[in-house]
Amino acid sequence: MKQKEILLNTLPKLNGNGNGHCHANGHHHEEMGDAHLSTSANTPLREDAFLLDDDLKIELIEKHFREIMHILGLDLADDSLQGTPRRVAKMFVKEIFSGLDPKNKPSITLFDNHYQYQQMLIEKNITFHSNCEHHFVPIFGKAHVAYISSGKVIGLSKINRLVQYYAKRPQVQERLTNQIGQGLMEALQTQDVAVWMEAKHMCVCMRGVEDVNSSTITSFYGGRFEEEKLRAEFLQAIAMVSA
Ligand SMILES: [Zn+2]
Repeated sequence: MKQKEILLNTLPKLNGNGNGHCHANGHHHEEMGDAHLSTSANTPLREDAFLLDDDLKIELIEKHFREIMHILGLDLADDSLQGTPRRVAKMFVKEIFSGLDPKNKPSITLFDNHYQYQQMLIEKNITFHSNCEHHFVPIFGKAHVAYISSGKVIGLSKINRLVQYYAKRPQVQERLTNQIGQGLMEALQTQDVAVWMEAKHMCVCMRGVEDVNSSTITSFYGGRFEEEKLRAEFLQAIAMVSA
């Protein structure tokens, strides 16, 4: 099947009742956004998500984003605006949503734990940038990650890269935290993984309640980090870091 035919078969039907609003549970989807309902561990992707190649995705998004700008009343003939649709489309596919595509997952090489280091290793203050899947505006903050080696160790920068890979998707912070935790468990071949994240959500800062001071904290504890003592050691270490 040609790529354009696939797309025609998969585009949501925009006509019909409701203009995309659903009243099934007495809620608009729009209103459900902030409640973080129906969040699954996996990013909700269609099975045919990668049948279109990146170039065609960019071409199509450019076309549709141009349309959005036009509807907003912007003059696309203006020098400053002309290149924006293409720029946004490339940014979506190649940068800020590149983590949707498994081909962009960092390859992880494990090394033998020659040092016989048996304690927790903490990678602190990992900066991440993501985007809220309910409003498509930024979420950004810090992640602190810890693991205990099961006999293998990982190149430290790979931990940052894995955090960034999962961040480069439309996200909610809860799912992002779990995906990083599970991704690390898988990569490190151990259950003993902890993740702690604090982030600002621009959808809370710049719209809605417009609270610029609040931040959101989420955590993930696997294996031995379920134990109170180990968890306390981890939390104490990252608190000293943040202070
Ligand atoms: Zn949001």
